[in-house]
Amino acid sequence: MRENERRRRVEQTQIHRPAVPRVMTVANQKGGVGKTTTTVNIAAALAQAGLRVLVIDIDPQGNASTALGIDHHADVPSIYDVVVEGAALATVVQECPDVPGLWCAPATIDLAGAEIELVSLVARESRLKRAIDAFQQDAGPDQLFDYVLVDCPPSLGLLTVNAFVAATEVFIPIQCEYYALEGLSQLLTNIELIRAHLNPTLHVSTILMTMYDARTRLSSQVADEVRAHFPNEVLKVSVPRSVRISEAPSHGQTVLTYDPSSSGALSYLEAAKELALRASS
Ligand code: ADP
Ligand code: MG
Repeated sequence: MRENERRRRVEQTQIHRPAVPRVMTVANQKGGVGKTTTTVNIAAALAQAGLRVLVIDIDPQGNASTALGIDHHADVPSIYDVVVEGAALATVVQECPDVPGLWCAPATIDLAGAEIELVSLVARESRLKRAIDAFQQDAGPDQLFDYVLVDCPPSLGLLTVNAFVAATEVFIPIQCEYYALEGLSQLLTNIELIRAHLNPTLHVSTILMTMYDARTRLSSQVADEVRAHFPNEVLKVSVPRSVRISEAPSHGQTVLTYDPSSSGALSYLEAAKELALRASS
């Protein structure tokens, strides 16, 4: 389908608020597969459609905070204060300057120590869940978040465990490269373990193929293979490898505001609509 036609279709599709708020953890034990890029761009697309969206940056690197143009130097109240100190989520969230309705709980450098500090705390696996639940319970109708997306670090430490306990859905971005499926079985095993011991509602709901290169056979082979394994989870749209997508974070922006007419922006818009429509079907 031509890009103009795709754009016309996506603009005509309405995104509705989900019947119940969705909490999704964006995870993959590999680094550099597009977790952060996917988190911020899907979140921006949902917010631009009029929903209230919260990105929780739980990666000490703070890349999601940077990409959303959110201040996250060492003194800023952050997700560290929430998970380690027990602060209320409402005291750390900031609204994204470019996208109204899109909020972020930033990660600061403190978070690097949180993995170790969490070990000795009570309810160490469910601190993020408690914070989100408390926020949503206290929120008025126009403060409630429709979507909460948690951007995870690549490792499976207590921060990632907190993200898995807080969510009902796991959203896995997979890079279209040869080793894509390697490491995935480990991730699925870990999700099973969390499900058995800590969070029976957790399941993989969504997979997005990223950094798709239409010029190579490898990309389409990998995408086909992943689809064969997960026919119900993989979104129809894949995100192409795009310079505009990789440039946007250095401007503190998502690709949706940095270059809305790019093919990368269009793909993330389509992916967000598909993800939202699936919830209502
Ligand atoms: P992760 O969070 O899994 O470590 P990132 O989202 O940070 O991965 O992406 C890793 C790198 O790849 C970043 O430099 C990012 O800008 C780049 N990148 C992500 N998606 C794309 C894409 N579709 N096209 C081009 N570059 C991309
Ligand atoms: Mg990341």
